[in-house]
Amino acid sequence: MTSKYIFVTGGVASSLGKGIIAASLAKLLQARGYTVTIQKLDPYINVDPGTLNPYEHGECYVTEDGAETDLDLGHYERFLNTPTSQSNNVTTGRIYQHVIEKERKGDFLGKTVQVVPHITDEIKRRIKLLGETGQYEIIITEIGGTVGDIESLPYIEAVRQLNWEMKEEDCVFIHLTLLPYLSSTKELKTKPTQHSVKMLLESGVQADILVCRSEHAITKEQKRKIALFCNVQQDAVIEALDVSTIYDVPMMMLKEKLDKIVLRKLKLSTKNEPELEEWTSFLTKYKNPKNEVRIGLVGKYVELPDAYKSILEAFIHAGAKNECKVDLKLIHSELITDENVDQKLSEMDGILVAPGFGDRGIEGKITAIKYARENNVPFFGICLGMQMAVIEFARNVIGWKDAHSSEMDPKSKHAVIDMMADQKDITMKGGTMRLGSYTCEVKKDSKAYKAYEKTKISERHRHRYEFNSKYQADFEKNGLVVTGINPETKLAEIIEIKSHPYFVGVQFHPEYKSTVLNPHPLFVKFIKATMEKKK
Ligand code: GLN
Repeated sequence: MTSKYIFVTGGVASSLGKGIIAASLAKLLQARGYTVTIQKLDPYINVDPGTLNPYEHGECYVTEDGAETDLDLGHYERFLNTPTSQSNNVTTGRIYQHVIEKERKGDFLGKTVQVVPHITDEIKRRIKLLGETGQYEIIITEIGGTVGDIESLPYIEAVRQLNWEMKEEDCVFIHLTLLPYLSSTKELKTKPTQHSVKMLLESGVQADILVCRSEHAITKEQKRKIALFCNVQQDAVIEALDVSTIYDVPMMMLKEKLDKIVLRKLKLSTKNEPELEEWTSFLTKYKNPKNEVRIGLVGKYVELPDAYKSILEAFIHAGAKNECKVDLKLIHSELITDENVDQKLSEMDGILVAPGFGDRGIEGKITAIKYARENNVPFFGICLGMQMAVIEFARNVIGWKDAHSSEMDPKSKHAVIDMMADQKDITMKGGTMRLGSYTCEVKKDSKAYKAYEKTKISERHRHRYEFNSKYQADFEKNGLVVTGINPETKLAEIIEIKSHPYFVGVQFHPEYKSTVLNPHPLFVKFIKATMEKKK
């Protein structure tokens, strides 16, 4: 099977939502019965975003195979309900690393190594890798950045060459742009779009389809004008208005016939109408909740909600499943103190303590957890949130006042959270944590089992520290039990407090696996517990 390629570029401004447009188009093609995947090319020099501060780049998403990737891959999985992998995210850093390693090995002996052809060839190879798996009829490749950026040039050149090498009907270019609205004259302006299309053309790429972000409806006349000056077919100018939820975008693109126009260019059949019943039923539930709960998300990156993207989306999926609106309040952990915790958390029906690294804001997290434990407020701790729950319990229930994680206090006499044995000799920071999917055995008599309804599960990880099993008996004697364990390494993956209505901490990241069609069971159950608490 030869795969067909859809290349998505962006122009005029950044943050127009190429990832959502790509995911929405993929959803429609999948709903018509095509096998499709999405790939993101990121023009930065980091090998992956794993070493980036969330303030710089939002959440770092982790795939089944343990790749630390751009958060757009999370959207792809949430929309398509199929896993992505290392091959779905390529960065300039990774491309150069590979080419330079080859140069050192002597693979180019005698030759000057250059951006064209060596870097562009490596980009092309990475783009074609997904096609070579034979698993996909259609591959959507999203090129990060904005046309005109210096960093994006090798990518545009690479896809230009691919287009030249491929048959006309094997590839299509979609360009996402913005039509700014001038309120003084009450008009949408098309000139920036014309310029951006022209700039793309200077690199040898003619856009086939223009998706135009706009705050106001685009008239037929304006569409005609854009089509004429940008040299695309008249119906290939697509309007993308602002919507209340990203999950409406596939429906909007369906109305605009984006999928049909793409399939026409690719000479693929449009016979099968898209099957979107489950999707629309999710949307109906999401928009017509019967209940509402308020949940506090306690974290230190709350100024940038994108840092918790997958958690926010998981609440949307699980909320809809419960037909319950989740009013999520992002609460800065650095601002929580013993004095104000009551006032900050008393209106919450549930508390989630977020993942994170380093010691900023952790005492506030511990205070929030103490509040949830003592007041029977449903609690859900993820990764660092689970580790802090263990520390809180050690300090305030068992009585080890100095209990800590060796991440924050390497000298603590009670390192109830400690570095994993296989991490101790690691000096390189990039890509060396415990990453990706591992199996976990769930004990039958537990809240986790009630959620999963099975004993064997698999979840994704991203951490260096772990529950110190040396102290397990002390914890269990006092009422905090380990209810999920890795069968090979014996690492504790889930902890619970038996006497509490809902107190669950997980070492893994359930949020990465929540999708529209498969809301994560732990989020579903947590919301259920908060609904009960509210009653
Ligand atoms: N900092 C902790 C660790 O490395 C938790 C990581 C996380 O929350 N993802 O173990």
